[in-house]
Amino acid sequence: MARFTPAPGLEEALARMVAPHVQRIAHQVEMEAKRLAPPTKQWVTMADDHVRPTHVSAQGQEVPGNLRFTINSMAWDRRHRGLGAKTYMLAPRDQSSRAVANIKNCRCTTHKDPQGIARNINTGQPVITGKKVTVTVSARGPLVVEAEVGTVYPGNLVADGAHFMARGAAIVAARR
Ligand SMILES: [Zn+2]
Repeated sequence: MARFTPAPGLEEALARMVAPHVQRIAHQVEMEAKRLAPPTKQWVTMADDHVRPTHVSAQGQEVPGNLRFTINSMAWDRRHRGLGAKTYMLAPRDQSSRAVANIKNCRCTTHKDPQGIARNINTGQPVITGKKVTVTVSARGPLVVEAEVGTVYPGNLVADGAHFMARGAAIVAARR
């Protein structure tokens, strides 16, 4: 029969009390996501006169480790290998890209940055709206959404998602 009516301001006070706890949980999600995030990789040429123009254009291109570089196609590959304007390579000399001319005698390498994505994952400050506490864990940067959920390149080349944000959240949820 009796009905509990919170004193004015009580729910807001409670929200403020639990906010640091919610933020600690969000911070744990951030730490797990950082641990699970793929590295980024950068296309590096020999930077001499022999680098083919399609790879000169690729110099410095940086993508998440589970994704592909986007390289200008060579005419021979377009004509004989059915490639479009772009060729999608996991790494230099990647045969799965179906290129032949564009990988022949290539001397390019990649430079990996293990923290390339992790360093851009952050936990925000708690936002209290009435009796609700929200803390956002976010990942920013080029292609982070594709790195998380995956993508499909022309030619049906599938890149699986790394699901580092979703898996990070699931791990923390399973602890509770
Ligand atoms: Zn090359």
